Amino acid sequence: MAESETDVEFLRGELTRKLSAGENVVIQSERAAVLRNVTCPKAQYHFVVLPKEEIANVLALKREHLPLLDHMMDLANDVIKQQQLSPNDFRIGFKIDAFMNRLNMHVISKDFYSSSMRRIQHWNTFNSDLFITFQAIYALLYVKGSVEPMPAEQVEQLLHATPVHCNQCSFYTENFGQLKRHLYIHWRERESERLSKMGVANLSQRMGQMQINKGAEQPVHAKQPAKKKWYVNKKKNSQSSSSSPKGGANTKLI
Ligand SMILES: [Zn+2]
Repeated sequence: MAESETDVEFLRGELTRKLSAGENVVIQSERAAVLRNVTCPKAQYHFVVLPKEEIANVLALKREHLPLLDHMMDLANDVIKQQQLSPNDFRIGFKIDAFMNRLNMHVISKDFYSSSMRRIQHWNTFNSDLFITFQAIYALLYVKGSVEPMPAEQVEQLLHATPVHCNQCSFYTENFGQLKRHLYIHWRERESERLSKMGVANLSQRMGQMQINKGAEQPVHAKQPAKKKWYVNKKKNSQSSSSSPKGGANTKLI
């Protein structure tokens, strides 16, 4: 019994250990870090933002933490931008009854399509009052200065509540397996739309690049004065063939 309690405590400390070891850290600053949730992501994109200051959970937040929350949201936007996605594609906020022993803000894509989304509790954790959006937490702290805990019975009731409603259309069901299959259809459609847009964007980019290259070649020929004597052109051509193209130094953005 004692051993299993120790095991639970060990699991609850996972995020703190990862933060200390720099594991799965995608972006970080002096005050907070974004970690990719690789253990049990509940959607295609699932990150958690952790403050470096030790804060146990949302109930430990005070009004004085508002600037920290602003900073955590900045990091959330940075990681979303890094994925070339829009903030509208994400649900950002906190679990009121979090398992981990360290405050973590979820940045999770709204597809909720993942093999780790196995139980109705997983769904309800992110899609009921058990999940408090960043804006709601911010408003509570601003107005009241703290967040009230939710009674254990209400947490339990919300965790197992049915029917479950799709977050992307009016579909609802009592059967979680049906919802999972339904979410897959949404994801497949969105993914195919995204890949199609990417394909068009890549094609446009390549065509644009071809135009630039074409444009870059033209001045070389244009600079060759037709009226000059043939030996001048010959000399210039031999020089240009050995020179490096302009703009060869690539700037790597980090
Ligand atoms: Zn739907």
